[in-house]
Amino acid sequence: MSRPGRVRRVVTDRSGGASAAPYDAFNLAVHVGDEPGAVQANRVRLAGLLGVPVGDLVWMDPIHGRTVRRIDGPHAAAVSGCDGLVTTTPGLVLTALSADCVPILLADPGAGVIAAVHAGRTGVRLDVAGHAVAAMVAAGASAGGIDALLGPAICGSCYEVPLAMQRDVDAAAPGSASRTTRGTPGLDLRAGIRTQLMAAGVSQVVLDPRCTAEEPTLFSHRRDGITGRQAGAVWLS
Ligand SMILES: [Zn+2]
Repeated sequence: MSRPGRVRRVVTDRSGGASAAPYDAFNLAVHVGDEPGAVQANRVRLAGLLGVPVGDLVWMDPIHGRTVRRIDGPHAAAVSGCDGLVTTTPGLVLTALSADCVPILLADPGAGVIAAVHAGRTGVRLDVAGHAVAAMVAAGASAGGIDALLGPAICGSCYEVPLAMQRDVDAAAPGSASRTTRGTPGLDLRAGIRTQLMAAGVSQVVLDPRCTAEEPTLFSHRRDGITGRQAGAVWLS
Protein backbone atom coordinates (compact mmCIF):
# COMPACT_ATOMS: atom_id res chain seq x y z
CA MET A 1 0.00 0.00 0.00
CA SER A 2 1.20 3.47 -0.82
CA ARG A 3 1.44 5.99 1.98
CA PRO A 4 -1.02 8.88 1.64
CA GLY A 5 0.66 12.11 0.53
CA ARG A 6 0.02 15.66 1.58
CA VAL A 7 -2.85 17.44 -0.13
CA ARG A 8 -2.06 20.74 -1.85
CA ARG A 9 -4.65 23.22 -3.16
CA VAL A 10 -4.06 26.41 -5.14
CA VAL A 11 -6.37 29.00 -6.71
CA THR A 12 -4.92 31.30 -9.38
CA ASP A 13 -5.82 34.93 -10.19
CA ARG A 14 -5.26 37.26 -13.16
CA SER A 15 -1.82 38.55 -12.27
CA GLY A 16 1.55 37.81 -13.79
CA GLY A 17 0.67 36.04 -17.05
CA ALA A 18 1.48 36.44 -20.75
CA SER A 19 -2.03 37.04 -22.16
CA ALA A 20 -3.11 40.38 -23.67
CA ALA A 21 -6.47 42.08 -23.01
CA PRO A 22 -9.20 40.98 -22.58
CA TYR A 23 -7.48 37.85 -21.28
CA ASP A 24 -4.91 39.70 -19.20
CA ALA A 25 -2.97 38.30 -17.93
CA PHE A 26 -2.85 34.81 -16.40
CA ASN A 27 -5.55 33.13 -18.52
CA LEU A 28 -5.30 29.35 -18.36
CA ALA A 29 -8.11 28.40 -20.80
CA VAL A 30 -7.65 27.57 -24.49
CA HIS A 31 -11.36 27.64 -25.39
CA VAL A 32 -12.01 31.37 -24.84
CA GLY A 33 -10.26 32.82 -27.92
CA ASP A 34 -6.91 33.72 -26.38
CA GLU A 35 -3.60 33.26 -28.24
CA PRO A 36 -2.66 29.55 -27.74
CA GLY A 37 1.01 30.43 -27.24
CA ALA A 38 0.14 32.80 -24.41
CA VAL A 39 -2.04 30.17 -22.72
CA GLN A 40 0.73 27.59 -23.01
CA ALA A 41 3.24 30.06 -21.53
CA ASN A 42 0.81 30.64 -18.65
CA ARG A 43 0.43 26.91 -18.06
CA VAL A 44 4.21 26.49 -18.02
CA ARG A 45 4.38 29.35 -15.52
CA LEU A 46 1.74 27.69 -13.33
CA ALA A 47 3.64 24.40 -13.39
CA GLY A 48 6.79 26.25 -12.35
CA LEU A 49 4.99 27.98 -9.48
CA LEU A 50 3.58 24.63 -8.28
CA GLY A 51 6.90 22.85 -8.78
CA VAL A 52 5.53 20.16 -11.09
CA PRO A 53 6.17 19.22 -14.75
CA VAL A 54 3.68 21.00 -17.04
CA GLY A 55 2.62 17.60 -18.40
CA ASP A 56 1.30 16.64 -14.97
CA LEU A 57 -1.35 19.39 -15.11
CA VAL A 58 -4.67 17.82 -16.14
CA TRP A 59 -7.33 20.03 -17.73
CA MET A 60 -11.03 19.51 -18.38
CA ASP A 61 -13.27 20.67 -21.19
CA PRO A 62 -16.38 21.33 -19.06
CA ILE A 63 -19.83 20.56 -20.45
CA HIS A 64 -22.01 21.71 -17.53
CA GLY A 65 -23.02 18.12 -16.75
CA ARG A 66 -22.54 15.82 -13.78
CA THR A 67 -20.09 13.30 -15.23
CA VAL A 68 -16.97 12.74 -13.13
CA ARG A 69 -14.06 10.74 -14.58
CA ARG A 70 -11.32 8.87 -12.77
CA ILE A 71 -7.86 9.28 -14.26
CA ASP A 72 -4.62 7.53 -13.38
CA GLY A 73 -2.02 9.32 -15.48
CA PRO A 74 -1.18 12.46 -17.47
CA HIS A 75 -3.45 13.65 -20.29
CA ALA A 76 -1.88 15.74 -23.04
CA ALA A 77 -5.29 16.96 -24.23
CA ALA A 78 -8.08 18.23 -22.01
CA VAL A 79 -10.28 15.45 -20.64
CA SER A 80 -13.57 15.90 -22.47
CA GLY A 81 -17.15 15.13 -21.57
CA CYS A 82 -16.91 15.75 -17.84
CA ASP A 83 -17.01 18.42 -15.14
CA GLY A 84 -15.08 16.51 -12.50
CA LEU A 85 -11.83 14.55 -12.25
CA VAL A 86 -10.81 12.04 -9.57
CA THR A 87 -7.41 10.50 -8.99
CA THR A 88 -5.36 8.57 -6.47
CA THR A 89 -2.11 9.20 -8.35
CA PRO A 90 0.38 11.41 -6.45
CA GLY A 91 1.77 14.33 -8.45
CA LEU A 92 -1.12 14.50 -10.90
CA VAL A 93 -2.51 18.05 -10.66
CA LEU A 94 -6.28 18.17 -11.26
CA THR A 95 -7.57 21.56 -12.37
CA ALA A 96 -10.96 23.23 -12.75
CA LEU A 97 -11.19 26.39 -14.87
CA SER A 98 -13.75 29.06 -14.05
CA ALA A 99 -14.80 32.69 -14.28
CA ASP A 100 -17.89 32.93 -11.98
CA CYS A 101 -18.59 29.19 -11.80
CA VAL A 102 -17.35 27.41 -8.68
CA PRO A 103 -14.11 25.44 -8.62
CA ILE A 104 -14.53 22.66 -6.02
CA LEU A 105 -11.34 21.06 -4.70
CA LEU A 106 -11.99 17.87 -2.72
CA ALA A 107 -9.65 15.56 -0.85
CA ASP A 108 -9.69 12.59 1.48
CA PRO A 109 -6.12 12.95 2.76
CA GLY A 110 -6.22 9.69 4.71
CA ALA A 111 -7.29 7.62 1.72
CA GLY A 112 -5.22 9.58 -0.79
CA VAL A 113 -8.14 10.41 -3.10
CA ILE A 114 -8.68 13.87 -4.61
CA ALA A 115 -11.09 15.54 -7.02
CA ALA A 116 -11.45 18.81 -8.93
CA VAL A 117 -14.92 19.87 -10.05
CA HIS A 118 -16.36 22.69 -12.15
CA ALA A 119 -19.85 23.68 -10.97
CA GLY A 120 -21.96 26.40 -12.53
CA ARG A 121 -25.69 26.84 -12.16
CA THR A 122 -26.44 23.74 -14.26
CA GLY A 123 -23.88 21.65 -12.41
CA VAL A 124 -25.39 22.68 -9.09
CA ARG A 125 -28.86 21.80 -10.37
CA LEU A 126 -27.51 18.36 -11.39
CA ASP A 127 -25.59 17.89 -8.08
CA VAL A 128 -22.22 17.41 -9.74
CA ALA A 129 -20.68 17.88 -6.28
CA GLY A 130 -22.57 14.87 -4.90
CA HIS A 131 -21.57 12.84 -7.95
CA ALA A 132 -17.93 13.76 -7.34
CA VAL A 133 -18.17 12.52 -3.76
CA ALA A 134 -19.64 9.23 -5.02
CA ALA A 135 -16.82 8.88 -7.55
CA MET A 136 -14.27 9.50 -4.81
CA VAL A 137 -15.88 6.85 -2.58
CA ALA A 138 -15.74 4.43 -5.52
CA ALA A 139 -12.00 5.20 -5.70
CA GLY A 140 -11.46 4.35 -2.02
CA ALA A 141 -12.37 7.53 -0.13
CA SER A 142 -14.82 7.69 2.76
CA ALA A 143 -17.31 10.55 2.53
CA GLY A 144 -16.68 11.54 6.14
CA GLY A 145 -12.97 11.80 5.44
CA ILE A 146 -13.43 14.29 2.61
CA ASP A 147 -12.91 18.00 3.04
CA ALA A 148 -13.70 20.60 0.41
CA LEU A 149 -12.51 24.03 -0.68
CA LEU A 150 -14.95 26.10 -2.73
CA GLY A 151 -12.90 28.62 -4.69
CA PRO A 152 -13.77 32.15 -5.79
CA ALA A 153 -17.07 32.50 -7.67
CA ILE A 154 -19.83 35.01 -8.30
CA CYS A 155 -21.63 35.73 -5.01
CA GLY A 156 -25.30 35.69 -4.12
CA SER A 157 -25.44 39.49 -4.00
CA CYS A 158 -24.23 39.77 -7.62
CA TYR A 159 -25.67 36.73 -9.40
CA GLU A 160 -29.11 37.86 -10.58
CA VAL A 161 -31.41 35.25 -12.15
CA PRO A 162 -35.12 35.01 -13.02
CA LEU A 163 -37.33 33.93 -10.12
CA ALA A 164 -38.32 30.62 -11.76
CA MET A 165 -34.65 29.74 -12.26
CA GLN A 166 -33.87 30.64 -8.67
CA ARG A 167 -36.65 28.35 -7.42
CA ASP A 168 -35.55 25.54 -9.70
CA VAL A 169 -31.95 25.61 -8.48
CA ASP A 170 -32.89 26.10 -4.83
CA ALA A 171 -35.09 22.99 -5.00
CA ALA A 172 -32.04 20.96 -6.09
CA ALA A 173 -29.61 22.76 -3.79
CA PRO A 174 -31.40 24.17 -0.75
CA GLY A 175 -29.86 27.39 0.50
CA SER A 176 -28.78 28.64 -2.90
CA ALA A 177 -31.59 31.19 -3.24
CA SER A 178 -30.33 34.69 -2.48
CA ARG A 179 -31.28 38.34 -2.92
CA THR A 180 -29.02 40.58 -4.97
CA THR A 181 -27.90 44.05 -3.94
CA ARG A 182 -30.47 45.32 -6.48
CA GLY A 183 -33.17 43.57 -4.48
CA THR A 184 -33.85 40.95 -7.17
CA PRO A 185 -33.80 37.12 -7.04
CA GLY A 186 -30.29 35.70 -7.03
CA LEU A 187 -28.29 32.54 -6.56
CA ASP A 188 -25.48 31.80 -4.12
CA LEU A 189 -24.04 28.72 -5.81
CA ARG A 190 -21.49 28.07 -3.08
CA ALA A 191 -24.21 27.97 -0.40
CA GLY A 192 -26.09 25.38 -2.45
CA ILE A 193 -22.96 23.31 -3.08
CA ARG A 194 -22.18 23.39 0.63
CA THR A 195 -25.63 21.90 1.32
CA GLN A 196 -25.07 19.19 -1.31
CA LEU A 197 -21.63 18.26 0.01
CA MET A 198 -22.86 18.05 3.61
CA ALA A 199 -25.80 15.90 2.43
CA ALA A 200 -23.26 13.60 0.74
CA GLY A 201 -21.48 13.20 4.09
CA VAL A 202 -18.51 15.51 3.57
CA SER A 203 -17.09 16.52 6.94
CA GLN A 204 -15.73 19.99 6.24
CA VAL A 205 -16.45 22.67 3.63
CA VAL A 206 -14.26 25.78 3.49
CA LEU A 207 -15.16 28.78 1.32
CA ASP A 208 -12.84 31.23 -0.40
CA PRO A 209 -15.21 34.20 0.07
CA ARG A 210 -13.99 36.28 -2.88
CA CYS A 211 -16.59 37.26 -5.49
CA THR A 212 -15.29 37.06 -9.07
CA ALA A 213 -17.68 39.80 -10.24
CA GLU A 214 -16.52 42.23 -7.55
CA GLU A 215 -12.83 41.40 -7.42
CA PRO A 216 -10.86 42.95 -10.32
CA THR A 217 -7.94 40.58 -9.76
CA LEU A 218 -10.19 37.66 -10.83
CA PHE A 219 -11.78 36.78 -14.17
CA SER A 220 -15.57 37.23 -14.32
CA HIS A 221 -17.61 36.21 -17.35
CA ARG A 222 -20.72 38.04 -16.15
CA ARG A 223 -18.81 41.29 -15.58
CA ASP A 224 -16.51 41.23 -18.62
CA GLY A 225 -18.08 38.92 -21.23
CA ILE A 226 -15.08 37.83 -23.30
CA THR A 227 -12.36 37.11 -20.74
CA GLY A 228 -10.00 34.49 -19.38
CA ARG A 229 -10.32 31.75 -16.80
CA GLN A 230 -8.59 31.17 -13.49
CA ALA A 231 -7.89 27.69 -12.19
CA GLY A 232 -8.39 25.78 -9.01
CA ALA A 233 -5.80 23.02 -8.63
CA VAL A 234 -5.50 20.08 -6.23
CA TRP A 235 -2.85 17.40 -6.00
CA LEU A 236 -1.19 14.88 -3.72
CA SER A 237 2.42 15.87 -3.19
ZN1 LIG B 1 -20.49 39.62 -5.61
